[in-house]
Amino acid sequence: MSYSNSIIFGPIPSRRFGISLGVDLSPSSKQCNFDCLYCELEKAKTVDTMITYPSVLEIVTAIKESFHKHPKIDVITVTANGEPTLYPNLNELIFEINKIKGNAKTLILSNGSTIYDKNTFDTLLNFDTVKLSLDCVSEKCFKKLDRIHSSIDVKKIVQSMIDFSETTKNQFVLEILFVKDLNDKEEEITLLYEAIKKINPNRVDVGTIDRPPAYEVQPVPFNSLENIANKFEGINVNIAYKKRPKQTNSFSEEEIISMLKRRPLTNDDIENLFDEKSKSILQNLVKVGQISLIDSSGVKFYKFL
Ligand code: SF4
Repeated sequence: MSYSNSIIFGPIPSRRFGISLGVDLSPSSKQCNFDCLYCELEKAKTVDTMITYPSVLEIVTAIKESFHKHPKIDVITVTANGEPTLYPNLNELIFEINKIKGNAKTLILSNGSTIYDKNTFDTLLNFDTVKLSLDCVSEKCFKKLDRIHSSIDVKKIVQSMIDFSETTKNQFVLEILFVKDLNDKEEEITLLYEAIKKINPNRVDVGTIDRPPAYEVQPVPFNSLENIANKFEGINVNIAYKKRPKQTNSFSEEEIISMLKRRPLTNDDIENLFDEKSKSILQNLVKVGQISLIDSSGVKFYKFL
């Protein structure tokens, strides 16, 4: 079977990373060790390894061809119709991509479930940015929401993420997708916060369903995401939500400092929360060095120093 026309998608402009070239390691069908209720792909039986997949040579050739046609690629995003770390030759693949990528960065989007496998752990160290999902901490929630394959030992996931965060020299981002009446319950949010504090990733993206899901589940409203972000004190939280309601207010210098002491705010947060006067107070705090503006894999955060 030839995959040459279906491995690459894009390039597409990405808000975070510039021009992104997508690489699909499972172009023929969904192959995943999760069957998440919110998945935008079709429902599918879980697997613990890919059965059909393109070769490293086919993928690298397809990337080279795209580079030839589109010389200005900023990031190569490795993903799959399913879970990319189930691709059996991922280590060899990233080795080959790193040889040809030039100035482009590499990014992998994984559900995080294989991080405790030593080979996967070591392989992921070779990507410039690793983005792992962590929707749940409790086994009950993992089974209900992510509908995991029986081979997955969820107890090892958080500890391996802590180890990965301590080991990697590159960017490590966590992503949590909240689903109404599933992982938005107080007890799961507390478990997630405790885990995140220990994992200490560069950034946590929190979001909800924004495309038709595989099963009948509902998104959480924007204000739930905002409440969750406020609970995650001290963490670089990026709320990924397409149509945020605008709720601008006026804040004094003390109020701005106190907000940023609790948690760093993104540009989007500032646009949605701050009126013009508050924004100029914030800019002044940046100018005098009380607040810094940091970049975390394409997301800018205002942070108290
Ligand atoms: S991990 Fe991703 S691809 Fe797999 S079922 Fe969940 S949402 Fe779908």
